[in-house]
Order: sequence, then structure tokens, then C-alpha cells
Amino acid sequence: METSILTQIRKKAGRIIESQLLKPGRVLDVRYWESSDMIEIDLHLPYAEMQNWNQIPYIKLCVDDFTFRDYTPFGWDVETATCSLLIDTDHDGPGSRWAKALHNGDTIHYLKMESTRQAPHPTDFVVGLGDSSSLGHLLALQQLTMPKARFEGAVLLPNLNCGKLLSEYFSVSLNTLTTVTEITDWLLKQGYCTTHTWFYLVGNHHFVTKLRKLLKSLGHANIRIKGFWS
Ligand SMILES: Cc1cc2nc3c(=O)[nH]c(=O)nc-3n(C[C@H](O)[C@H](O)[C@H](O)COP(=O)(O)OP(=O)(O)OC[C@H]3O[C@@H](n4cnc5c(N)ncnc54)[C@H](O)[C@@H]3O)c2cc1C
Repeated sequence: METSILTQIRKKAGRIIESQLLKPGRVLDVRYWESSDMIEIDLHLPYAEMQNWNQIPYIKLCVDDFTFRDYTPFGWDVETATCSLLIDTDHDGPGSRWAKALHNGDTIHYLKMESTRQAPHPTDFVVGLGDSSSLGHLLALQQLTMPKARFEGAVLLPNLNCGKLLSEYFSVSLNTLTTVTEITDWLLKQGYCTTHTWFYLVGNHHFVTKLRKLLKSLGHANIRIKGFWS
């Protein structure tokens, strides 16, 4: 009984604190990628300062009481203050459950919008490598790379349909591969120039660490890393 009262007080205090600190946004559309666990969400974020997004941003979303998860906005449009998220929900967790429960018209809340401090090199070739949780990050990286021809990469998508839908929905220079071995084989074949190529590794910590080791063994030093989960 005591625990239940304490929990209720904590939840109420949490809601009061959250209502002071959190900013609202609105869900414009939710699309479930067929036969996969990828969920695409369009958001209207009137308080986000998208005109300043010169580096890849991330949003700290409130997904439950006192519970926050980071996701990557991409495809943002400054005039309409809209952007999208791609959330991989192929595991159980508060973030996955939150994404699965979203509907058009819902109000969402976020704690902050920050920079990942990753931006594409201004002139050299940009190669993005990531997994299914980093699709948004890779699309944002392509969005910031001008001209787009300077960007290419590969993404680990074990679900074949997800890879097919990615190329149908987006004009993106990403090879979709289904195993880490396929990604490493693909990298070995590319023969990227060590001086003028910059690598951006994103996603699962073990995955990015493995790719960094491989790239270093090939003599590459221009490597930026953003590890997400382990
Ligand atoms: C800056 C930043 C940006 C991010 N952007 C995105 C994004 O745009 N889209 C996105 O999907 N994720 C993104 N992530 C990753 C996301 O925040 C984490 O994966 C988060 O843990 C998911 O929360 P959850 O509550 O669903 O699972 P958690 O409760 O945190 O984790 C539950 C279990 O699932 C495992 N797990 C977590 N994520 C995954 C996954 N993707 N695949 C398989 N197992 C997993 C965990 O290791 C744990 O064992 C980002 C992370 C960071 C740091």
C-alpha cells in the first residue's frame, strides 16, 4: 500500500516537473513499414530551431514517465517545422512500445534537441555505415552533404523487405546488406582513398567498433563514430 502511494506521488511530481521542462510536438503521420519492424513518424515541432541544424541532430523524447530515448530527425523542413523519425522496434523496450502506440494527431513531448556533433566533411567523399537503428542518422547525413553525389554508404538491414522499402521510399545512395560480413566484404571491395574519404560509423556499439578496426587496418584515419546501444 505504502509503495503504491509513493509511486503515485512520484508519478504526480514527475508529471509536474515534466510539464515545466518538456516541449510539445505533434504526430502528423505514422507509417509501419510492411513486413518489418520499422516505424516512420512525421512530426511537427514548432519549438525546434531547425534553421540551425548544420550538424546531425537528435531528439530526447519522453517515451514514458521519467523515461527518455534518443532518436534522429531527418528530412526536416525549416518553413513548416516538420521532420521524420525512423524507429527500429525489433526489440522490446519503452522506446519501441511508445513508437508502436503512436497515432496521427497525438501530442509528443521531448526534453531537448541537441547536436550529435557529426557533420559531413565540407569537400571530401562522405561514407556512412550503419545499422537499422541508424537509418535516420544516415539520411540526415546525406541531407547535409552537398552535393549529394559526395555521399554513399551501406546499411545493415537483416530484414530484406526493409531494404527494399528503403530504396522505394527514399532516393538514398545506401547499399542495403543483411550481415556484418557482407558489409565488411563490401567495404574491402570499394578501395576508398585514405586521404579524401571520411567515414561516419553509426549504430550498435559492437558493430561500429568492428568497422572502425577494419577501416584502421586498411589505413583509414578519417573516422567519426556514434555508438547507440549495446
Ligand atoms: C544520438 C542517438 C540517436 C538515435 N537515433 C535512433 C533512431 O533514429 N532510430 C532508432 O531506432 N534508434 C535510435 N537510437 C537508438 C535508441 O535510442 C536506442 O536503441 C534505445 O535503446 C531504444 O530504446 P528502447 O526503449 O526501445 O530499448 P531499451 O529499453 O533501451 O533496450 C532494450 C533492449 O533492446 C536492446 N536494443 C536497443 N535498441 C535496439 C535496436 N535498435 N535493435 C536491437 N536491440 C536493441 C538493448 O540493448 C536492450 O537489451 C539513437 C541513439 C542515440 C544515442
